[in-house]
Amino acid sequence: MSWESTAVYYRLLNRLARAALGGHHSAPLLIWSVDFAPIAAMQAQGDWEGASAVMVEAARKLETAGADAVLICANTMHRMADEVAASVAIPLIHIAEVTSRAVRAAGARRPLLLATRYTMEQAFYRDRLEAGGVSPVIPPRQARARLQAIIFDELVQGRIEAASRAAFVDIVTAAVAEEEVDAAILGCTEFGLLVDPADLPVPSFDTTELHARAAMDFALED
Ligand code: GLU
Repeated sequence: MSWESTAVYYRLLNRLARAALGGHHSAPLLIWSVDFAPIAAMQAQGDWEGASAVMVEAARKLETAGADAVLICANTMHRMADEVAASVAIPLIHIAEVTSRAVRAAGARRPLLLATRYTMEQAFYRDRLEAGGVSPVIPPRQARARLQAIIFDELVQGRIEAASRAAFVDIVTAAVAEEEVDAAILGCTEFGLLVDPADLPVPSFDTTELHARAAMDFALED
């Protein structure tokens, strides 16, 4: 998806391989990198069928090229995770499943989900978190619009703004006071570029990091 977070995944996977195996080890992997403009346009137009076709084709090509598992390196595009998983024989490592497991293991139950408008407002992601035993809360409408703008007008375009970092902290702080959330899910794979977990009043869960770790666990098990 956006290459800003694809690059984060690439670095993380290689660092994890080095940490686990040492020496000259790195992560053998295949990346299907897209032009994000048509993807973002399909998302904005609600053309989820078109977007799904792109993802299914990418997963099939990666499988043909020799991948042992597939990761969708964004939260939003897990909207079509079931279609993608059904189109290949290799496993799909689901970002929301990995995240709900980590939230539960940390003892949190009521996380604030910070993500694109699609991920926060549609059911596909929250349902998966709920299936994992946590009860996600989403920010109010104005905050959701602000997060959407931070992602699409700034982060995926490589812009990191101090005002947006402060706005993010304010959104979490308000939800702790008003909604009694006990954790924050960084449910957009670019949020780790913006947010310092130390600035947040509750523990945070970076989906990019959790997803990359799950992929490395899978690879090492194999
Ligand atoms: N990366 C974001 C996500 O995790 C949204 C932008 C994209 O689709 O790459 O949902």
